[in-house]
Amino acid sequence: FLQIRGIRKQYGPVVAVQDVNLDVAHGEFLTFLGPSGSGKSTTLYILAGFEQPTKGDMLLKGKSILGTPSHQRNIGMVFQRYTLFPHLTVGDNIAFPLKVRGWSKAAMTERVRQMLTLVRLEGFEDRKPAEMSGGQQQRVALARALAYDPPVLLMDEPLSALDKKLREEIQYEIRRIHQQTEVTILYVTHDQEEALRLSDRIAVFSRGVIDQIGTGEELYANPATRFVAEFIGDSD
Ligand code: ATP
Ligand code: MG
Repeated sequence: FLQIRGIRKQYGPVVAVQDVNLDVAHGEFLTFLGPSGSGKSTTLYILAGFEQPTKGDMLLKGKSILGTPSHQRNIGMVFQRYTLFPHLTVGDNIAFPLKVRGWSKAAMTERVRQMLTLVRLEGFEDRKPAEMSGGQQQRVALARALAYDPPVLLMDEPLSALDKKLREEIQYEIRRIHQQTEVTILYVTHDQEEALRLSDRIAVFSRGVIDQIGTGEELYANPATRFVAEFIGDSD
């Protein structure tokens, strides 16, 4: 469904991503796990179209997406923070990607209502982001990312700024949304527990390559390297 082929990204002499290869199935929940600086975000940014790779290709349903501008890729995104437009209401934030795509006013209103129900924020249309908690804002960001039914959703540590209770609540929401829709999710986290809880498969990143990819059980039972064993094994 989504194929990443020999992706390399250099910033001058710095090799951020060395050689990443990946096949993601339709509807899969795949998590990038790995230490700081291992190339997780860079790989997502290339998928999102914020960065061009030095080498390699990315294909969605068999077609290269690298030539397509970011806003035309139909890839939804939720990042760590500051993802909402602060001057727009919740309703207008969620409607924004629909407006860009030429939806009618009536269709947008209906869709905003549906999305607010999905993230359990009915009645919040007219609030401004600053009038909501961090967790509620992340749920709005999720609603906006999913509003136009993107086939792929990228999430880069979307919950790392939240406390434990809220994190678990939204993990549950994300899991539920993944089960209710057909969206394919690529998720980045530092938190191995979160990775194990959410993912169908986990890709363990190390120094710009994927060391190993598999289900949590596979990685736990048969780590390919000492690095994977240490990263997945004992929780800290
Ligand atoms: P973290 O878990 O800390 O978010 P990461 O796995 O997401 O880390 P990346 O952000 O992908 O790591 O960065 C990979 C490497 O590329 C790092 O060494 C980083 O310093 C470098 N890098 C990333 N962006 C740039 C840039 N714009 N210019 C120069 N180097 C960069
Ligand atoms: Mg990162």
